[in-house]
Amino acid sequence: MNAQQIIDIENRHTSGVYAKQTLAIVRGQGASLFDVEGNEYLDCSSGHGVANLGHGNPKVAEALYKQANTLITLFESFPNDQRAMLMEKITALVPGLDRVFFCNSGAESVEAAFKFARISTGRRNFIAAMRAFHGRTYGALSATFNKKYREGFEPLLPGFTHVSYNNIEALDKAVNEETAAVILEVIQGEGGLYPATAEYIQAARRICDERGVLLIIDEIQSGFGRTGKMFAIQHFGVTPDLLTCAKSLAGGVPMGAVLIGPKVKNLTPGVHGSTFGGNPLSCAAANAALDVMKEEDLPGQAGAKGAYLMEKLKAIQSPNIREVRGLGLMIGIEMKQKVAPYIKTLQEKKVIALNAGMTVIRLLPPLVISYEQIDHLVEVLTEVLTQTVDDGQ
Ligand SMILES: *Cc1c(COP(=O)(O)O)cnc(C)c1O
Repeated sequence: MNAQQIIDIENRHTSGVYAKQTLAIVRGQGASLFDVEGNEYLDCSSGHGVANLGHGNPKVAEALYKQANTLITLFESFPNDQRAMLMEKITALVPGLDRVFFCNSGAESVEAAFKFARISTGRRNFIAAMRAFHGRTYGALSATFNKKYREGFEPLLPGFTHVSYNNIEALDKAVNEETAAVILEVIQGEGGLYPATAEYIQAARRICDERGVLLIIDEIQSGFGRTGKMFAIQHFGVTPDLLTCAKSLAGGVPMGAVLIGPKVKNLTPGVHGSTFGGNPLSCAAANAALDVMKEEDLPGQAGAKGAYLMEKLKAIQSPNIREVRGLGLMIGIEMKQKVAPYIKTLQEKKVIALNAGMTVIRLLPPLVISYEQIDHLVEVLTEVLTQTVDDGQ
């Protein structure tokens, strides 16, 4: 199939819920993506933070091939070697969180965390942050702030309140003895790349502890090395009660997980479950992915490359840039105009970037991006962001 055929078929049969690009991507290698004609693109999206290891990692591919020939599916009632290995590996990443629930996506891990918080505390209410994004299923959507995602789907779940992010006083006021859990991102991804302050996350921990409330940290986008630590919360020396993760966990294969601390109670057989959760194929991929993250010190790489890229971005002299912010290789460039035309121009120059809201360009490159590729990215960004691109309005 040529590019036009692929694009035409997708446009004919798509559900309609995606804004389709006019670019058919068929292959990836490291931080590069290739279209049907073999044109190379620098991937600064990682599939929204999925491809931390880069595309085409041979260890993940090998693990998938071997496990596909061994055993693909097994309900979690039956113990399995790959799952047991992964349970040990993933719980070792966060001392204090010794149990894990496996599922298949980010939103599912958020749903599980909410159910666990209610069954554990016997309380109904949740506090989330303004600008928060936690997914699009009903529970997760109820915690998501932006009305762009919510409108048309009401009624959402009752019991959710949103408070201003990084505002300790507001959190202190909102959390009470009817609160089951507080859910926070350590750096808001979809919301515009706003990092939390250490004081805020530490205060959230203290406020929750004082009132018997569970702290849920959503690391679906920030996890697995992205910010320079395995999990972003580790920058602040805080351990949550529930940690949700997904995206990069299994090297690109769909998988989600909730890490669970000792204060979470009442998780007994039948309380929750997932048909595909903890399947040996995804577990094998995750085992390989976690090994690669460790062997190649991907958190360390993200920290060093993130600092390098951030310094170069901050040095770009452009009246169009309002602010550059982020943590590790999770970076936002806030512009004074709408970013859609900039992202389109970047794509014409073979750089694939994301937006976060209307005015922020989001960079989430694979953590294996080379310094040469970073230099090239900075060159293209300098060229594009110093121009005032007409947004057609
Ligand atoms: C992507 C994301 C989700 C939702 O994950 P899905 O796999 O798309 O359901 C939830 N929370 C955060 C912080 C995310 O970035």
